[in-house]
Amino acid sequence: MKVCIDPGHGGSDPGACGNGLQEKDIALTVALKVRDYLTAAGCTLIMTRETDKDVGYSGDDATTELQARCNISNNFGADVFVSIHCNSFSNSVANGTETIYCAGSPQSAKLAEFIQNQLIGLGDLVDRGLKTDSLYVTKHTDAPAVLTELAFISNQENASKLGDQHWQDEFARAIARGVTDYAN
Ligand SMILES: [Zn+2]
Repeated sequence: MKVCIDPGHGGSDPGACGNGLQEKDIALTVALKVRDYLTAAGCTLIMTRETDKDVGYSGDDATTELQARCNISNNFGADVFVSIHCNSFSNSVANGTETIYCAGSPQSAKLAEFIQNQLIGLGDLVDRGLKTDSLYVTKHTDAPAVLTELAFISNQENASKLGDQHWQDEFARAIARGVTDYAN
């Protein structure tokens, strides 16, 4: 199976920041581990970025940047597209994990369910469930596509997990298991 992993943000776009963390760094760290686990499981991987950079070009507008990510997945002929993000909210009490997919794609819904189940199966994370939204990267990718919000960078307890090496590995293994659950 061909898998495209998309670490959210990068380069000139740090994404959400909080509790001493930047979303782009957490997304990349976890994504690189997902790549390694899925490669070991026999999948063929492509990443939209493997370093801290803009995928389109530095300082590009949001549509150019997000389309560049979709192009990588679509040109690769990915069977699965997974975008990895951290959530953030003005109220620091908000916490937990959610996975978003584009309504009208039953395959994407399945993929989202497997990944969300594995993330919640880690225990200790509030299940915010599956959400449908026509996010750019889930809408403009040919493959079944999901965007997972691992936890809230704006919540102190969630951020302590996002910044923790052990938890980064757990997040990555859960996403990889979700993808292989879907493949099977
Ligand atoms: Zn994000």
